[in-house]
Amino acid sequence: MRLAVLPGDDIGPEITEAALTVLDAVDRAFSLGLEYDVHEVGMKAHKRCGTTLPDAALRAVREVDGIVLGPAGMTAYPPASDGGINIPGTIRKQLDLYANVRPARARRGVPNARAGLDCLIVRENTEGFYADRNLYQGHGEFMPTPDVAMSIRLITAKSSRRIAERAFLAAASRRKDVTVVGKRHVLRITDGLFMREVQTAAALHPGIKVREIDIDAMAAELYTRPQAFDVILTTNMFGDIFSNLANALAGSLGLAAALNVGDHHAAANAGHGSAPDIAGKGIANPSGIILSSALLLDWLGQRHGKKAYQQAARAIEQAIDVVLSDSKTTTCDLGGTLSTSAFAACVSKAITTCAHTS
Ligand code: ATP
Repeated sequence: MRLAVLPGDDIGPEITEAALTVLDAVDRAFSLGLEYDVHEVGMKAHKRCGTTLPDAALRAVREVDGIVLGPAGMTAYPPASDGGINIPGTIRKQLDLYANVRPARARRGVPNARAGLDCLIVRENTEGFYADRNLYQGHGEFMPTPDVAMSIRLITAKSSRRIAERAFLAAASRRKDVTVVGKRHVLRITDGLFMREVQTAAALHPGIKVREIDIDAMAAELYTRPQAFDVILTTNMFGDIFSNLANALAGSLGLAAALNVGDHHAAANAGHGSAPDIAGKGIANPSGIILSSALLLDWLGQRHGKKAYQQAARAIEQAIDVVLSDSKTTTCDLGGTLSTSAFAACVSKAITTCAHTS
């Protein structure tokens, strides 16, 4: 299988290299036959060729079996008209990666993890409040006068229905419980349409429990009763905010994993940003992008009927659990002293040890 690797900005190249170290370990242990097609994107690409997302990278992501995408430091990008292209946004839109699947779990030994947390946020990924990319043409934000600014929130029946369907399918192989999060009494029309489509999908999955909670109530509930939530289904921006909260409750934003997935393509893309404040120091926690790569392997395994890929995904999950359970083998966000590359080496070693003993 061929993977396109786009390392991104700031900590992106450091954590992506760590993910490749771990992918190499599972490749060897499970004979996966992985090949990589690495493309420079972000500000380095912009300096070289005037765009943060060169055509060659965009062509590659269409042609490969899967994508590993490092975080992009978009706040430092020039305007799109000067080549500052939103990398994840463009890839999501062009490949129709309509679902953003973000797990968060309390792992043994991780300091400050909220006991009982084990949820999967299923976030709509193509519309909602993302005014910079939610229209076919033009920008969903505008200023009719210098003192009036407005944003458009886009919700469609088609996107709501297909993300709901993803959530119910995910719940079927978990604890069969979906919590839908919105603010229906305020966003009556848009959340009303979203909830209507969720109810239609729910009717096709009678074995799955569904409840609706307002976003503000849910923020408190996830903190106070994390064990009460299995699959959390929500619209684009609420899902983005919520997954940061969920991963902070799991112990660190550095643990945030995410898979952007559509009907034909998938991109592993850590759930955190490019962390410019710690870039270049070699101290970032690469768990998020490593766990995202595991989600990608699992997706490839399901799609192509390759059990070894699913075994490799489970092996990465288990190895991360083993390594994080020992405070001596964590990065500084979790109170440890390991560098990004040393952490990846520990995860790889745990994979190799498990593969030899199982
Ligand atoms: P974006 O808007 O691009 O999603 P953000 O505003 O959520 O980004 P991040 O770049 O995710 O911000 O950083 C938020 C904080 O979390 C920073 O203090 C950063 O150093 C920390 N952080 C993010 N990722 C990691 C990581 N992998 N390891 C350690 N700390 C991280």
